[in-house]
Amino acid sequence: MRIARFTTGEDPLYGVVTGELDENGQPGEDAVVVALAGDPLYVGVKLLEQEHRLADVRLLAPVLPRSKVVGIGRNYAAHAAEMGNDVPEEPLMFLKPNTSVVGPGDPVFYPPQTSELHYEGELAVVIGRICRDVPAEQATDVIHGYTIANDVTARDLQRRDGQFTRAKGFDSFCPLGPWIETDLDPHDFAEGRAVQTYLNGELVQDGSTSDLIFDVPALVAHVSSVMTLLPGDVILTGTPEGVGPMQVGDEVEVSIAGLGSLTNKVAQR
Ligand code: MG
Repeated sequence: MRIARFTTGEDPLYGVVTGELDENGQPGEDAVVVALAGDPLYVGVKLLEQEHRLADVRLLAPVLPRSKVVGIGRNYAAHAAEMGNDVPEEPLMFLKPNTSVVGPGDPVFYPPQTSELHYEGELAVVIGRICRDVPAEQATDVIHGYTIANDVTARDLQRRDGQFTRAKGFDSFCPLGPWIETDLDPHDFAEGRAVQTYLNGELVQDGSTSDLIFDVPALVAHVSSVMTLLPGDVILTGTPEGVGPMQVGDEVEVSIAGLGSLTNKVAQR
């Protein structure tokens, strides 16, 4: 099931997106979104007798992280190497504030404090239940679904600060979407799903989730051994190699096979 959050100009609603994705991960022209009563994270999936053509609605971030977005750094060996880093012995965690989240099509604002703004296309895990100390083998029990993220990073500030809060924490630095896919599981990603980023239509990242150093269950176990996870919290699983700069006016699309694609433009702040 693909769960989206959308608006038709009125208050936002959650909805289920129907129809097949084409080979580019795009919904067909006949795709519709069936509205839901309330947030399915808390009340389950309750269909309303209200549907819209997907093309007629504006999609919003499919989840509003209740407390946090947990990032994982250097989780693909080739990306660690391109940044001049070794592969970590344990998952390298950082936090992005929930105020950094924006939705599909929303602008990513280029802050005046940086001159090196990078995209990082990533698989994102959405937590469905309050949990702590989750064993890896039970991780699927606490996962609501999966979506796509761009872990936008001010690379110069990351180097200068030596920690990640400012570099990854600006408003609009965590585009999420286009929806949450609830029917995939960690095995799908272990087998390999393409994670690709396009900058103005040019392929700049071409990774596979089979290359994750720490897989999804390991990340849920590791993060939840440190902090309680709440419904709607998000774990970003790290980016493959090929990160690079974005300029004002650039369009960045992150696609993950079977999940769809997330597109945002960079705007002057
Ligand atoms: Mg990242």
